[in-house]
Amino acid sequence: MENISYSKAIPVRYEADVMVAGSGMAGIAAALGAAMEGMDVIIVERFGVLGGNATAGGVANFCGNNVGQGSVLDMVMAALEEFDAIAPRKKGRGGRVFDHEILAVILPELLERYKVKVLLHTTISDVVLNGRRIEAAIVTGPSGLEAIKAKQFIDCTGEGALARSAGFSVMKGGSSKYQLPMSLMYFVRHVEEKDVKYIPEGWFEKIDSEDKLPMTSIWPNGPRSNAIKIKVPMYDSTDTVSMTMAEINGRRKMMSVLDYHQRQEKRSWILDHCSTVIGIREGVRIVGDYILTVDDLRNCKRFEDVIAVGTYYLDGHKPDDDKRTYILPKESLKVPPYDIPLRCLIAKDGDNLMMAGRCLSADQLALSSARVMTTCSMTGQAAGITAALAVKMNTDVRGVPYAEVQKKMIEAGAILDRDEVASFYEAE
Ligand SMILES: Cc1cc2nc3c(=O)[nH]c(=O)nc-3n(C[C@H](O)[C@H](O)[C@H](O)COP(=O)(O)OP(=O)(O)OC[C@H]3O[C@@H](n4cnc5c(N)ncnc54)[C@H](O)[C@@H]3O)c2cc1C
Repeated sequence: MENISYSKAIPVRYEADVMVAGSGMAGIAAALGAAMEGMDVIIVERFGVLGGNATAGGVANFCGNNVGQGSVLDMVMAALEEFDAIAPRKKGRGGRVFDHEILAVILPELLERYKVKVLLHTTISDVVLNGRRIEAAIVTGPSGLEAIKAKQFIDCTGEGALARSAGFSVMKGGSSKYQLPMSLMYFVRHVEEKDVKYIPEGWFEKIDSEDKLPMTSIWPNGPRSNAIKIKVPMYDSTDTVSMTMAEINGRRKMMSVLDYHQRQEKRSWILDHCSTVIGIREGVRIVGDYILTVDDLRNCKRFEDVIAVGTYYLDGHKPDDDKRTYILPKESLKVPPYDIPLRCLIAKDGDNLMMAGRCLSADQLALSSARVMTTCSMTGQAAGITAALAVKMNTDVRGVPYAEVQKKMIEAGAILDRDEVASFYEAE
């Protein structure tokens, strides 16, 4: 392949204490976590809406433990409650389904309350490095190429956009060369039988029996509507052509499944809308000072620098299969509440780069649990607090005493004692 080199002077349009890359639940929690500590924060998002998988991806369900996850998740859930846009809390670890369109309008309001600067339609394209420090992020938006300088950076892109640009060590896949499979979310409206708009013949592949369906999950979505999730495996989130085909083939599959529901199952459903983008379960994990492993989860490994507790099962969908199959046998998916150490949020190759959410330093199976939005929010808030403390103490992220981060997380309502988490659920 031919290479082209070029150099260009780029305006430094913004400067901040903390720059957060990506605005999924991890990025939102990181930005608010740092802003609540008095930091000047900027958050950069490539889409035109905040929320990542939770809005653009149409994934509208807080899974796993949603109590004691920190003040950001509490604030988001309280706001959704005010709008009557979230299901009541269930006992135990049941999820809370919410309205993702309401979340999309709530998030910018919450960020504004804490004076977080938001840039939408802005993609991180590169970084300027000075040794092990990121000096600036190079972003591309409607105004063209611009630079953002910050003292601390937090990569919550799920794709390691900052880390990869910096040439820092990253991981993807594990059980095979493929990442955990993507799934597409779409939404159907229930109509009278006479109003069903059938999909015309000859456009999309026909599914004529249940065994030919991809893994299809039907979720509630308010009155006369359902959210539907279909598995779209074996695409690579780091490859432009592959991502293009994932989106196109995901929608093709959606039409085949809708046709099956209409014609074979006689459901009076029509397509309401499809999520803006396909849902990515695993993109790129950044190698941190420690890599959390599935054995750490199973063996209840204690970490003195615990800053988050994961509670979800090992939701490791088989990457190379579109059925309801898992990497591990079903009987070994459960794990007890487990520690996530601060070391997994600090990029090994840098001095001012942290990560949270899907970028966590974890093996594929450990991430298959820690990727749920409740845990993403917890790791995000912990990263935001740590970055803020680093700025206040004028040190790099490793200079921040983990006990300070733990203290602030607990003050923010986080439960960091996994035995307390376990006994809380047993009591329910
Ligand atoms: C189909 C599906 C179903 C799921 N079901 C559930 C569920 O029921 N409950 C649950 O809790 N979890 C569920 N999950 C997991 C959960 O939704 C995600 O793991 C979680 O939302 C990830 O949050 P995040 O903030 O790490 O990443 P994301 O939500 O993916 O956010 C990353 C953000 O970074 C942005 N970004 C990426 N690259 C760049 C760049 N170069 N420049 C600027 N911005 C960039 C993206 O646009 C995105 O907005 C599901 C996931 C999928 C895919």
